[in-house]
Amino acid sequence: MSYDDTIAAISTPIGEGGIGIVRVSGPLSLRIADRLFQSSRPSKPSSFPSHTLHHGFIVDPEREEKVDEVLLSIMRSPHSYTAEDIIEINGHGGLTPLLHILELVLKEGARLAEPGEFTKRAFLHGRIDLTQAEAVVEMIRAKSERGLKLAMRHLDGSLSRKIRDLQERLLSILAEAEAAIDFPEEDLAVLSRGEMERKMEEIELELRRLTASFQEGRIFQEGIIAPIVGRANVGKSSLFNALLERERAIVTPYPGTTRDSLEGVISVQGLPFLLIDTAGMQMDGPHLEMAEKEGIERGRTWMEKADLLLLVIDGSDALAEEDRGLLRHARARKSLLLMNKMDLGARASMEELSRLLPGVPCMRISAKTGQGLQELKGAMFEAMERGGMDMTQDLVITNLHHRSALREAEEAVARGKESLASGLSIEFASLDLRESLDALGKITGETTSEDLLEEIFSRFCIGK
Ligand code: GDP
Repeated sequence: MSYDDTIAAISTPIGEGGIGIVRVSGPLSLRIADRLFQSSRPSKPSSFPSHTLHHGFIVDPEREEKVDEVLLSIMRSPHSYTAEDIIEINGHGGLTPLLHILELVLKEGARLAEPGEFTKRAFLHGRIDLTQAEAVVEMIRAKSERGLKLAMRHLDGSLSRKIRDLQERLLSILAEAEAAIDFPEEDLAVLSRGEMERKMEEIELELRRLTASFQEGRIFQEGIIAPIVGRANVGKSSLFNALLERERAIVTPYPGTTRDSLEGVISVQGLPFLLIDTAGMQMDGPHLEMAEKEGIERGRTWMEKADLLLLVIDGSDALAEEDRGLLRHARARKSLLLMNKMDLGARASMEELSRLLPGVPCMRISAKTGQGLQELKGAMFEAMERGGMDMTQDLVITNLHHRSALREAEEAVARGKESLASGLSIEFASLDLRESLDALGKITGETTSEDLLEEIFSRFCIGK
């Protein structure tokens, strides 16, 4: 891939905003600024010092027409986000002037950036490694304070340092192993097999601990998946809205990935819960029955993915066969049973409920009046706390691709260790050590394939 061309994109969200930024990176950046930027002073951008901000206008050079009043910032290579010359044009936030500016920049020889291409360049120029590049996405997507903190630990290079430390230790064992292969008679200089095994075991354990931190990492990154399930009309949507009510001002529920469920995040004592309203699309008339069936199917699918199920029944009514089916289905899962509509009085039998779902906390709530909702949040927090999450561990992996590479590395070390223990030729262990090193290289980007890089950077937004 060539990266001596110049790329440009609108880096702020598309829509009306207070300001909007067109970002340009590459060798033509300053020349483009010279052509388009009319400073309030006589000097040209190519003579501006690095890391300075200038007031002026973007002018269409052909029509000699002012397009927008802007602030222009200059960051020269190598001290910029991409390690290339960057200019950022801060315009008034409207989409039309931003598109106009972008169009002018493209006319002057830049091309439209692909998603994540600015960050990809920072990686390709060696300013950051792959764990740091991926941490940029994690920061953007973090659903909680702790998720943000964990992403920060990746961005500041803590994860890379840990991986590099493991790589160095593997390399030193490998060097010993290869010395033993090349000079079998000088066995005094090399580590004994036992010593090698011990060191490999230590590394294996550290790799396993990192892999195991994934569950927690995912939770802080994406939220605890908490679907609200129950048959139609028990009050799932009402509960979803009631729980999200206070967050509404800052969190707008958005259509879920399936487009027919709604999702919203609430924070309970710092734990992020991703609430999912499985009631989904509203239908009526002849479609109603089908919609209900689909609703139940959706509920089931979410149940499979849930970290914590919020099972809702209409407590003001006797249990329906459908409720019983649902509760039975929920058995082996971590769940809370919610008797809703308690403002209408209780009719469902507590005995039957505790028989159907032994050991599951049952709470009386009303989505309409708000009764019991504070207690419900407390119970949600407790249910996850008791799940044994270690909130103190600092280095946590949050990324599937890291987990699979760490597993691969761990398995290879374990194989090497066993082949040593069973007295096989040391050459086998040396192959396994190499494989383990390669797997770790996929995390930092040293041995990552072009396809995987493509896949990773395609998850970014345009302009990042
Ligand atoms: P869903 O189909 O499970 O999502 O149920 P909805 O949230 O749409 O609620 C169905 C009906 O029950 C609506 O008319 C709600 O206003 C009503 N409802 C929901 N929760 C309560 C509650 O706690 N008390 C009372 N009295 N009505 C409720």
